[in-house]
Amino acid sequence: MLAIRIHETGGPEKLRVDDVPVPAPGAGELRLRVEAAGVNYLDTYLRTGLYPSVLPLIIGSEAAGVVTAVGAGVTDFRVGDRVATAKASGGYAAETLSPAAATVRVPDSASSQLAAALLLQGLTAHYLACSTFPLKPGDTALVHAGAGGVGLLLIQVARIRGARVIATVGSDAKVSLAREAGAEAVCIYTKENFAEAARKFTDGRGVDVAYDAVGRDTFEGTLDSLRPRGMFVSFGNASGPVPPFSPLVLSKKGSLFFTRPTLVHYMSTPAELRSRTDDLFAWLAAGTLKVRIGATFPLTAAAEAHRALEGRGTTGKLLLLP
Ligand code: NDP
Repeated sequence: MLAIRIHETGGPEKLRVDDVPVPAPGAGELRLRVEAAGVNYLDTYLRTGLYPSVLPLIIGSEAAGVVTAVGAGVTDFRVGDRVATAKASGGYAAETLSPAAATVRVPDSASSQLAAALLLQGLTAHYLACSTFPLKPGDTALVHAGAGGVGLLLIQVARIRGARVIATVGSDAKVSLAREAGAEAVCIYTKENFAEAARKFTDGRGVDVAYDAVGRDTFEGTLDSLRPRGMFVSFGNASGPVPPFSPLVLSKKGSLFFTRPTLVHYMSTPAELRSRTDDLFAWLAAGTLKVRIGATFPLTAAAEAHRALEGRGTTGKLLLLP
């Protein structure tokens, strides 16, 4: 079968189209025929080596499709079920494996493309807004990269919870998307000072929470955007990792809280995963949550998808279609 693998870390050109054997599911695993694979920023970190992995590696942790085989001990799924996972072992492939405990059924109301577009980034938006800092009506939130995959979903989930959102985007073209998702204010942080905009948005007080997955480039400004005892949620490194800093900084900036969460710890049991995905698919069916598929690429054009994502020209979700 076709699969996109890296044999060494580096740029998008390291994504190789390989012919590999169809994997056999081990105990507790299932295999699915991939109908759509999600492209996530995480995939670029594995490709560059920012997050180390064992090579060669089939890239991709998000996929939706149809179950083609189940391993020993799997009782919840059968061949033919339509499923999605954010824990695929190599989603950029014709078929992939996923632990049954980390796999969800896709309701008839959602296509496989929508499911692959929603799952990983939707779960991320859900845990950030509902668990890491459980937003409540009237709270104010700063969401960076508000027209991106996670950004558009996070703004919407924050609005569903009654919070007010100021978003940042990298270009004029992205402003209307962040607004349509529900951001009350949008700052183009490539040419405006977003910390000043966040202060203005909150009458000088600072936001209650800042969701920052841009990393290195926004770290200082995000600290300056928060109210005393506000929470800095650092959940990604699109511009590079946040450099080491002294905890004293948090004291000086107003006894801030700082957390560096990752999805795997917020879908730690099948019940937790199911409760989040139940919310997401219910919001999707009700029309309160909209998923934007920004672009689709053939599986063999994975390198092009990575270039687009890292080039900041994309909005919403990118999918690979085997
Ligand atoms: P996006 O679609 O949001 O793409 C990344 C965006 O980051 C770009 O479109 C761009 O938007 C912005 N950006 C700012 N500076 C740069 C830069 N120097 N280079 C490239 N992009 C930049 O990607 P995802 O939705 O897949 O992921 C968003 C972030 O969330 C990533 O950092 C990812 O690692 C993180 N994440 C974390 C998870 C977790 O559990 N911790 C889970 C899922 C995602 P703009 O031009 O508008 O600035």
